[in-house]
Amino acid sequence: MSIHRSKTWTNIPDSISISQLMQHNVANTPPDKIIYEEALTGRTATYGSFHRQIRRTAYSLRHDLSFQPGDTVSISGSSSIEYILTAHAVWWIGGIVSPINNSLHPDELSRAIDLVKPKCLVIDKTLYEKIPLIMKNSDHCQNSNTFKTFTIGETNGAKWAPFPINYSPSIDEEPELRNPIRPQTFDPKKACAAILLSSGTTGMPKAVMLSHYNLIAACFQLREDNPQNWRGSQREIFFPPLSHVYALYVCFTMGLWLGAYVCLMPRFDLELYCRLLKDRKATLARVVPSIARMLAENPVVRRYEYPSLEYFSCSAAPLHEETAAKLSKVFPGVVLCQTYGCTELSGPCVQSGVRDRGLPLSASGTVIANSEIRFLDLDGKDVGARGPGEIACRAPNVMMGYKDNPEETAKAMLEDGWLRTGDLGYMDEKGYLYIYDRLKEMIKYKGFQVSPSELENVIIQYPLVQEAAVIGAWSSEEDTEIPRAFVVLENAQGNPQEIAKDISDFVSTKVSNYKKLRGGVVTIDALPRNPTGKVLKKVLKEYKGNPQLEVRMPVAKL
Ligand code: AMP
Repeated sequence: MSIHRSKTWTNIPDSISISQLMQHNVANTPPDKIIYEEALTGRTATYGSFHRQIRRTAYSLRHDLSFQPGDTVSISGSSSIEYILTAHAVWWIGGIVSPINNSLHPDELSRAIDLVKPKCLVIDKTLYEKIPLIMKNSDHCQNSNTFKTFTIGETNGAKWAPFPINYSPSIDEEPELRNPIRPQTFDPKKACAAILLSSGTTGMPKAVMLSHYNLIAACFQLREDNPQNWRGSQREIFFPPLSHVYALYVCFTMGLWLGAYVCLMPRFDLELYCRLLKDRKATLARVVPSIARMLAENPVVRRYEYPSLEYFSCSAAPLHEETAAKLSKVFPGVVLCQTYGCTELSGPCVQSGVRDRGLPLSASGTVIANSEIRFLDLDGKDVGARGPGEIACRAPNVMMGYKDNPEETAKAMLEDGWLRTGDLGYMDEKGYLYIYDRLKEMIKYKGFQVSPSELENVIIQYPLVQEAAVIGAWSSEEDTEIPRAFVVLENAQGNPQEIAKDISDFVSTKVSNYKKLRGGVVTIDALPRNPTGKVLKKVLKEYKGNPQLEVRMPVAKL
């Protein structure tokens, strides 16, 4: 077996929980230091008051609501101080946090809840209208006698009980003093901390279980190679949804563990983002490739100056070499770091650091601390220590498995703890990893996962569709993959172009915005299949019908 091992190694604490880790730095951070700010409301949370509120909420969960260790709490809403507080209070009592994207369509939210099977759902006002439909279509909500919905944030017009958070910067901790609850202790390798959704290498979204140890490890592994990005003096503006794995190890830990400042933006707005980068003296800008492109090209960016900005950290999808070059030109003093990874790895696998100044722009970086990677061929056999082939990774941050899904877990995880990523890559002699394609079908629209199977299941509900296949086409305009459908129509009468447009509109009413068929719908006579009947999506990707769409991700060339 040819294994490539990372050059760095760090001691990862293996007997503490996330809450215990968060307490670790209490003495190093002044209690009145602002660690979280909401960009739109200006509300802030200080380090000391945030800790006190966690303990108060944990106390209420245990004593008033009888929450037990191992109970799962799903959270769905826009980024807020209460969202992060909810997660930490649940961790404090040994519970499991399951953040779910609030922009999902109600049907998708129902499916997510059925996968996760939480004890309760915590929502904010962005979900009020969707809730009746979600409840109606979720088996779990219908069948569980104990399931409850709670609200956080503004509760005007809410029909549900408020979650026990009453955050204010001057909060005291009276009940905690009378009867303190200490963070729950357990085996952090066996205790699940978070459940996130991912479609993995095939099929429909699945529920990825990440342990306390997985998430702590990811932080330590990343910090080992890039300590400059993991320090208390870090200041950042965070816009990705808190339901992404990116948020779990960055946003949920940075403030509370290291005492860093994180400004929460519920949705991306370029002008506001640039203003906040300047006004809040951000040192780090965490971006995804489509945002990196805006920062590199949009004239709005030049309205401000960014003297505090030291690093860009780009991840979640392939960064175009040209975008990287332009960004470095527009921000000459700012170091561009990249991270490659996936939800099943609690986030990271490879990163480029501030030390890698000679890194080729098309490379993602070097393997993070305490990790090993191998390259596999289509039959799962080793193809040599540098590839090219499918990347498999063994590391402390590899997930526990998919919840209630041993078949999919067995497909994703090989013997001895190796995880198949479904991504194709190779390594140069310096140890830099290049991602050149994706073996798995998953599509990434601006950093958001889109499962082709999920879309295909929606498309075939359209009455005239016999069969459908969805692939990711490349939009140079938006610098991202976009979902594109190929459909075979049943005895089609009528104008195929009109029907295709109708199918696209139909899908738009059934899925969340980022899953829409932006790459169009193409009607064909038959789907190309191999002798065993498997649809040849590679052939569909070569389709040249629309010259505006390139057929592959324009990343590292093999
Ligand atoms: P997610 O689980 O949503 O984080 O998505 C993980 C997938 O996004 C990976 O398996 C890759 O296909 C893709 N991805 C993430 N980061 C990168 C990167 N730096 N370069 C290329 N693809 C990436």
